[in-house]
Amino acid sequence: MNKISNQVFADFLTNKPLYYKIKAVENLKEFDNTAFVDAFGFKDKSFKFFCPEEHEVQTFKTDLVESAHPRLSQIITSNSDELPYSFDAKTRKLDIKVHVLGVCQSCKAKIDFLLRSTSDKEWEKRKEGMTITIQKIGQFPSYEIGLNPTLKKYLNNEDQSNYKKALICLSISYGIGAYAYLRRVIENEIKRIIQDIAELDFDGAEFVRRAYENFKMDFQMSKLIDVINQHLPVSLKELGDNPIRLLYEQLSGGIHEFTDEQCIDKAENIDILLNYVIRKINEEKYQLNDVKKAMQGLRQTK
Ligand SMILES: [Zn+2]
Repeated sequence: MNKISNQVFADFLTNKPLYYKIKAVENLKEFDNTAFVDAFGFKDKSFKFFCPEEHEVQTFKTDLVESAHPRLSQIITSNSDELPYSFDAKTRKLDIKVHVLGVCQSCKAKIDFLLRSTSDKEWEKRKEGMTITIQKIGQFPSYEIGLNPTLKKYLNNEDQSNYKKALICLSISYGIGAYAYLRRVIENEIKRIIQDIAELDFDGAEFVRRAYENFKMDFQMSKLIDVINQHLPVSLKELGDNPIRLLYEQLSGGIHEFTDEQCIDKAENIDILLNYVIRKINEEKYQLNDVKKAMQGLRQTK
């Protein structure tokens, strides 16, 4: 039996929109309670979620609303000829809806999920190995795609909106849309990212500053990228490749040459890289401010 990890299940609860499906178990032959074939498979799982009461991300744990249904494994050992309650009498396939509660481990606030679990094979064919698919069919409070605090703080309103649209496209596998929106974000933000880098304190910063001043007059982005290519803060250099140039290169060429699937990959990679770059710049910026403040403080109390 191949089962999804707790990590994947957590991501499913936290980040996936309504009607999203995942193959939770493959090649299931022996029924056990962890295999999403009865309500107990959904119990006691941890996930991170935005707490509606505390307005911050907390650890949640799943619990069941009612546990009136017996465990499937117990029924099967007592009478294996009879169709279990979680299988549909007509299709003879697994089809249960489970009301799962997500409970905030900090304040006990609750999120309701309605999850559906189905099998590809009939009960009689279970020995051939079943695939179990789980799907989100209800969530309250409703699912809302949002940006993480780092992006929210850094991006202007227009790009927050572009970014959100990209994530919505990604959530329903509209790769071309997601890629196009993220390219727009890069196009709008790359100047500001470089401007922020120029203001950091690192070996070669003066070259970036000068190049940025020149750019403000000649608007030649490729020249600016050439300079950035040679001079970067250590935290952005560690990657082995230049992340700023890589982001910039996403803007050349058309979208038409890529399939939807290729665009999904590209969009997911841009999402990761943009988050990384913005986080690093923020860290350096604020660390620098903190150190400057600390130095000032020491000087004043001398
Ligand atoms: Zn809470």
